[in-house]
Amino acid sequence: MTNKMNIKDLSPKDIEEFAAEQGLEPFRARQIGKWLYQKQAGSFDEMTDLSKELREMLNSNFRLECALELTGEQVSTDGTRKYLFGLSDGNQIETVLIPEKGRHTLCISSQVGCALGCTFCLTGTVGKIRNLRPSEIIDQYLLVNRYNEGSVTNIVFMGMGEPLDNLANLVKALNILMDDHYISMSAKRITVSTSGLVPKIKELGQEVSVNLAVSLNAPRDELRDRIMPINKRYPIKELIKASANFPVPPRKDPMFEYVLLAGVNDSSRDAYDLGELLRGIRCKVNLIPFNEALPLPYSTPSRDRVLEFQKILMSFGINVRIRKSRGVDILGACGQLAATYPAKSPAGTARASGAQL
Ligand code: SAH
Ligand code: SF4
Repeated sequence: MTNKMNIKDLSPKDIEEFAAEQGLEPFRARQIGKWLYQKQAGSFDEMTDLSKELREMLNSNFRLECALELTGEQVSTDGTRKYLFGLSDGNQIETVLIPEKGRHTLCISSQVGCALGCTFCLTGTVGKIRNLRPSEIIDQYLLVNRYNEGSVTNIVFMGMGEPLDNLANLVKALNILMDDHYISMSAKRITVSTSGLVPKIKELGQEVSVNLAVSLNAPRDELRDRIMPINKRYPIKELIKASANFPVPPRKDPMFEYVLLAGVNDSSRDAYDLGELLRGIRCKVNLIPFNEALPLPYSTPSRDRVLEFQKILMSFGINVRIRKSRGVDILGACGQLAATYPAKSPAGTARASGAQL
């Protein structure tokens, strides 16, 4: 292990600055980006259209290596795949690939654990262990895309962690994903999901345009305070305003996610209150029936309750979908990721036992 920085922790702008410091033309930085992300070179020496001096300069300043080691993989009966990755410090994270007709969505982790302690989320019970570095975020995409013959079409930051609690590294990773000379993924295919760190939503919007998903989960502060402690700092009105002002890509709308918890936030009154709250705001709503994850003290509402909740919202003219739970049998669905927990798995699930609770 050297003290040299992993070059994949640098954003396109950082590499441009490095090139400028070395007296190089800006196109050299773009060439390096292409080698790293489009040709996925395994070493600087493979970058044959760079001069020997430049390759040596890169070698002496940076390391080029994969930040993740695959330590487990589970496949759900519905085709969802969950990957367990080891980090260099021994921590573990999870990445989930959700194949659907016409799109393969990759659900990426942004932190080891999460500090925000939402009461319905298994990751929240772990607490925050640390932020992921840009290379650890990007390598989730590079590796899973490679394992699946380049078939990943969309990325959602809905894995472990609160992406906006790791804003600087998130922005670097987003710029690597979207830069034309790097991964070149369209902003329309990338979604950042947040529990509602209002000032950070504004900061993110000053840096990039991507899709925004906001975990709302309650239409009134008194209820949201109880299930999402962050609401005490940034109440619903401020959150809705920041979300509505966020620069999503053209012809896209911000999305509000709403995890339905039986008997807690799924009543008809809650649906009417939510409809009123979102009146006049361009948005989509995604209803997520609670994914059961022991030891969380909630349960999933009946199908009828979910449909009734949707019907009421639709009567307000809101575009509302029910998210199908994917990968529940491998604890790969929303809110079920807690790879840092020690193995305590039932017999027969040994391959990724670290991911089981
Ligand atoms: N920290 C970010 C992103 C990760 S959580 C956020 O909170 O938005 C991704 C989504 O999973 C969020 O919308 C969250 O509300 C939802 N979620 C958390 N626990 C869940 C559970 N047990 N069942 C269903 N959805 C859950
Ligand atoms: Fe963290 Fe999001 Fe889970 Fe809340 S729902 S604890 S913010 S990962």
